Amino acid sequence: MALSRTMTSRERCQAVIRHQIPDRVPVDLHNFLATVHYAGLPMARALQDGELLAEAQLRFWKDFGHDMLMVENGVVAEAQACGCGVEYFDDGPPRVAQHILAEGLDRIDQLEVPDPFTTPPMSEVLKAVRILVRELGDRVFIVGRADQGPGALALALRGYERFVLDLALFEQPELIHKVLDFCVRVQTRYALALREAGAHGTATGGLGVSLLSPELYRSVEQPYERRFIQAVNQPDFPAALHICGDATPILAEMVATGAPILELDYKTDLRRAKEVLRGKATLLGPVNPELLWRATNPGEVEDAAREALELLAPGGEFILGPGCALGYDTPPDNIHTLIETTCKYGIYTQNGHLSHLV
Ligand SMILES: [Zn+2]
Repeated sequence: MALSRTMTSRERCQAVIRHQIPDRVPVDLHNFLATVHYAGLPMARALQDGELLAEAQLRFWKDFGHDMLMVENGVVAEAQACGCGVEYFDDGPPRVAQHILAEGLDRIDQLEVPDPFTTPPMSEVLKAVRILVRELGDRVFIVGRADQGPGALALALRGYERFVLDLALFEQPELIHKVLDFCVRVQTRYALALREAGAHGTATGGLGVSLLSPELYRSVEQPYERRFIQAVNQPDFPAALHICGDATPILAEMVATGAPILELDYKTDLRRAKEVLRGKATLLGPVNPELLWRATNPGEVEDAAREALELLAPGGEFILGPGCALGYDTPPDNIHTLIETTCKYGIYTQNGHLSHLV
């Protein structure tokens, strides 16, 4: 059923996630770094300050008018709240510099699941969500992102190379599972706090086959992603699963987590993805963030957006945006072109075709 042409951004996103045909394809932006840069705020400080995070998101939304806001602080909130040392920069994303489990997986017994309401920077992201919900209310769909997924948080806690080696050797299976179990409890508690703060949905960043073999994804990562999704996803609070890189070999398993939204990037076989997801999940993405960062000609952005629309929009279940985080200094003109192209070529007919193709 087609809905009225006066939908708000929030209604437009909700309709898609509920497998209905909206007036046009909604647009999301993975722009937590770009918002801060665009607002002229010092990035290192703003990513740790809920009021500044909200101010940056609001400023960006007022100028660009996208349908879905993605609120997070640089995908380090959980690791930092668990006790890792994080370095923030004014000209790039933050990074985890000290790993709380560096000395050994068995240190997991000393960790406690942080209280998101009192532990920064989780508490600051919650503050940002509260401000945005108060200012924008029902007009926009606000995703309070529950940061890293189980494997990604385990990597951050243990140290990247160390955890990759732990997985390759697999000499301490019980401890590996204990760490992943801890990570899911951290993520679940954080996502539920984001919901309490008023977020309309959440997301988690899974580890895909750019790092794990498909077998390891199935046996070690996916069961924990599934547990997270099952614990927090509700009809009125959708939980998205984000996996970068080529997710083609694991699409069915991603769907099997029960996530109503899968965030996929351009490296995935999108024709295949559309088939596998049909009737089960909404595809969010897949425009290459690097293309949006480097394009000097609006035609290049328009072509990428039109190609994605014509392949993925028919029949609904599609939210267009970058498949992964935008660079902080992505040219604003390219983002305007992305949104204008969707407003022009993403209009639906009542039965879910794109109107310019009918
Ligand atoms: Zn990504």
